[in-house]
Parts: sequence; structure tokens; C-alpha cells
Amino acid sequence: MFKSHSIIIAALLSSALPYPVVADEPPRVLVIGAHPDDAESAAGLAAHYAAIGSEIMLISLTNGDAGHHEIGGRPLALRRAEEARRSGQIIGAPYVLLDNHDGELSPNWELRKRLIQMMRRFQPDVIITHRTNDYHPDHRYAGVLVRDAYTELSVAGNVALTPYLKKFPVLLYMSDNFERPYPFTPDIAVDISGQLDTKIDMTHCHVSQMYEWLPYIRGQIDQVPESDADRRVWLAESIRAEARSTADKYRDVLIELYGAERGKAIEFAEAYEISEYTLHLSEEKLRALFPFVYSRP
Ligand SMILES: [Zn+2]
Repeated sequence: MFKSHSIIIAALLSSALPYPVVADEPPRVLVIGAHPDDAESAAGLAAHYAAIGSEIMLISLTNGDAGHHEIGGRPLALRRAEEARRSGQIIGAPYVLLDNHDGELSPNWELRKRLIQMMRRFQPDVIITHRTNDYHPDHRYAGVLVRDAYTELSVAGNVALTPYLKKFPVLLYMSDNFERPYPFTPDIAVDISGQLDTKIDMTHCHVSQMYEWLPYIRGQIDQVPESDADRRVWLAESIRAEARSTADKYRDVLIELYGAERGKAIEFAEAYEISEYTLHLSEEKLRALFPFVYSRP
């Protein structure tokens, strides 16, 4: 069952209206993850936005200084900052790491205030983050922090010296497989078949994670290929598998959005849930925010 957004979207796609709309400028996009490599989960969507000229900023709320079995602290944080910088560069986006310790994120007022300031200054149209159901406390608290900051973006009296937002962005949650207290419920599924290589390239920048730490904790360190090219091929397999599984899992949403013929054929996808705190999205607004979905023939 899908929420009203999907119904609106389906109505839009079946209408005979030509796709107008992107207002004056393409949407401004903030992707906010807990760690430097989390934003890459939304790299397909971010690449779509990059292609239409959006200003994009990727943010990690921690410096990633605990994500390794052999190094840590400042050397790891610096290494990950450089990996992140190179990843963001691929879509022309700055990748900002806040200097909070990995594994120690907490939903405190100081950090929420910082986020309110960053969000207001950037003036996003779209914000993408974690759901708050995730197994990892940093991911959970990132979701809480973003959600709580989001609700205060237009409250003039909070963080009063940073001008409040007069237009309210849409808040999207990245997909996950956690069931409790409620499972991820997609409103939008995006064909990322043409963006998959960009997603792989961005993720490939995170050498310390993709080829060292994550294989280590998964007991796969002996499977990691030696050369850079072989590593990318190895990594691509898992990214393709995940994007294919997302497309299959949310096939009905793809069909709703892209029509039966195209929707059935989409091989790789990302899916997003629109936060229920987002204000009602008009048809025009939806078209402006997701033009690569709505401009499909
Ligand atoms: Zn993470």
C-alpha cells in the first residue's frame, strides 16, 4: 500500500500535461549521512540532480574515525575526508565532514543547532537522510537530528541569528530493510540505470571502507582483489545486486511512476520515502522536485 504521494505521482504521470516545470533553478540538494560513505547510498539520485545542474552538498555528521581495524583517530579521519572529497568531486559536490567521533553521535541540541544553521544557509529544496529505524546508532541519531532540525527550519525564534527558511524543503529517507517499528514505505522509486556507474565510481573512492574495513568485519578480506580495476569490478557486483534488488522489491512503485512498459524493464533503482513531516506537495512542486522521473515519455 502506498501513501497519498504515490497516488498523486501516479495521477501526474497518467495526465496529458506536458512536463513544464523546473521553476527558475534546479532543486538544491543536501544528502546528510552519519559517516563518510553513507551519502553514496543516494548517489544515483544525486547523480540525476547533478545532471540537471543542481547544487548538491554531501554531509557526514561524523568524521569516520572509528571505521577501521588497523588505523583510527586523526589519521583515519583525514584519510576518509580525502576519500569523501574525491567521491563528491565526481558529481561536483562538496563533501563536508563534521568533526564528531564515529560511533559517538548523539541527538543533542548543539548538533541540531549546527544542522539548522547549515541547512538554512544552503537553502535546500530536497534533503535526504537515514530513517530512524536503523541498527547503527549513528545512522539512527543522524535521522533524528536531521528530522528535528528540519522541523525548525522555518521557526524564526530558534537559532534566531540565522535567517529562517521561507520555503520548506522535502525530506526524503533512504531505503533500508529494517521492519520495526515500521518498514520502509517507498513513495518514490528512481531509475538509476544510467547513473549506476557514477554510484560505483563514488563508492569506489572509499578505499578504507570498501576494500579494507567492511570486508574485514564481514570475513571477506581475503576476497578483495589487488588491483584498482579489479576492485572496482568486485565492488560493482554488490552495488548492482543491491540496486537490482531494490528495483525488484519496489517494482510496483516503478510501474506506478514510469508506466507499465518502462517500469517493468527498469533494472536498477533507488527508493525513497517522503517524511510525513513534509508539507503537502502540490503537483507542480513534485514535478519540479523530481523532473527526471516526471519527464519520462
Ligand atoms: Zn554509516
